[in-house]
Amino acid sequence: MSKPKIVVLGAGYAGLVTTRRLSQKLSPEEAEIVLINKHNYHYESTWLHEVAAGTINPNQARFMLTDAVNPKKVRLIYDSVLEVKRDEQRVVLENSEVTYDYLVIALGWVSNTFGIPGMEEHAFAITDIDSSRLIAEHIEYQFAKYATEENPNDEDLAILVGGGGFTGIEFVGELAEKIPQLCKKYDIDRSKARIINVEAAPSILPMFDEDLVTYAKKSLEDRGVEFMIGTPIKEATSEGFIVGDDKELVKAGTVVWTGGVTGNPVLAKSGFELVKGKVNVDADLRVPGEENIFVLGDCSWVMDKESGRPYPPTGQLATQEGAVAADNIIAMLRNQPVKDFVFNNKGTVASLGITDGIGNILDGNKIRGKAAAAMKKVVDDRSLFMVGGPKIVLKKGKFRPF
Ligand code: FAD
Ligand code: NAD
Repeated sequence: MSKPKIVVLGAGYAGLVTTRRLSQKLSPEEAEIVLINKHNYHYESTWLHEVAAGTINPNQARFMLTDAVNPKKVRLIYDSVLEVKRDEQRVVLENSEVTYDYLVIALGWVSNTFGIPGMEEHAFAITDIDSSRLIAEHIEYQFAKYATEENPNDEDLAILVGGGGFTGIEFVGELAEKIPQLCKKYDIDRSKARIINVEAAPSILPMFDEDLVTYAKKSLEDRGVEFMIGTPIKEATSEGFIVGDDKELVKAGTVVWTGGVTGNPVLAKSGFELVKGKVNVDADLRVPGEENIFVLGDCSWVMDKESGRPYPPTGQLATQEGAVAADNIIAMLRNQPVKDFVFNNKGTVASLGITDGIGNILDGNKIRGKAAAAMKKVVDDRSLFMVGGPKIVLKKGKFRPF
């Protein structure tokens, strides 16, 4: 009899943790493991705002999959998933097809523009290594161009960031580090380059207590970030954002949308029942009614029984789900019972640039400033360890004691 075939789609946090754990715990006789990913590298989605601001090199935020997964134990396919044909247990890729006995869908998130007119066409989005590097290159190009022009326009230097959630705020924090460097490099007065964050809600970072939000806002304002809060973006144009009820046009040379994310469109293409673009999975992370399909990370809703709401989609959640999905597949192969996923929340930290941040850590303790920035680097390295192992942390890790 042929070996059962486990196919994992996506080599992000959830997919890579699942694959590594399966390959560590299963013998080659027990199953064939296949990992399919668009690129031959993994990137740290949680570091992309730094790539987009140009405060880290794109190569620091990625590593080759062969450095984290043993190709003798896992068949690696570098291709784009187009659709899952559930009735035929088959995955359609751009260049080939693969059948499965067990399937793990961990294709991550895409930017969600909520149908705001012009957003797709005119705004950049921080979605992967290439789109993030493009933003950094575009910003620097604006500065280089400004320096050569006879009558330069200050609006070309302005950077407009739509959305004051985690991504938008961490991104403007990095810009507050990078823009002074670019001003120095191109002999431009710092006051000419504006960084503007536009948020529809009455506050930025609504998931933090007011004292931490006040701290974050002041820290960023002191470093030249301007806020337009309670200001919904109505439209994006080639010149900037149209905002508020009076439809004011805010002009900028660089316009970035960080207003939300949703599950990978492959889910809809494959006919899964979706809630806000994601699959509402059972407690064991399987798709309701599907014995052999797990959906993880930002493609899934996992309900928090205590609050009755889904857990926020994070790298932390995705890595924990990856471990449980691997254990459940192993249990199924060995005719043992599967277990329910229980999220172990280790806290939340948001960076505000390289040496500042805010966070809620274990037991509701609040941190801010350098302690939070250091904690964020520890968290980043921990997730790097989980997806890549110790050698990758030594090569790409961030933590350096101040
Ligand atoms: P991902 O890690 O995004 O992995 C998806 C993988 O699938 C990628 O490798 C992608 O290339 C691949 N893929 C996508 N489509 C296809 C396809 N069609 N075919 C083949 N392969 C495909 N969370 C935290 O917990 N802490 C943080 O500090 C944090 N910071 C963040 C900062 C930013 C700027 C952003 C945008 C998000 C941040 N998050 C953070 C959220 C976190 O990044 C996501 O929750 C996490 O990436 C979800 O993991 P995942 O495995 O579902 O998807
Ligand atoms: P988000 O949904 O958390 O925030 C988007 C923000 O954009 C919201 O504050 C929303 O009010 C605002 N917005 C939406 N429409 C708008 C409009 N028309 N005009 C102006 N503002 C508008 O999205 P995100 O920040 O990309 O985060 C996505 C997920 O990734 C979250 O679940 C978050 O927890 C996670 N994440 C975590 C970290 C971290 O832990 N440090 C960092 C980044 C992202």
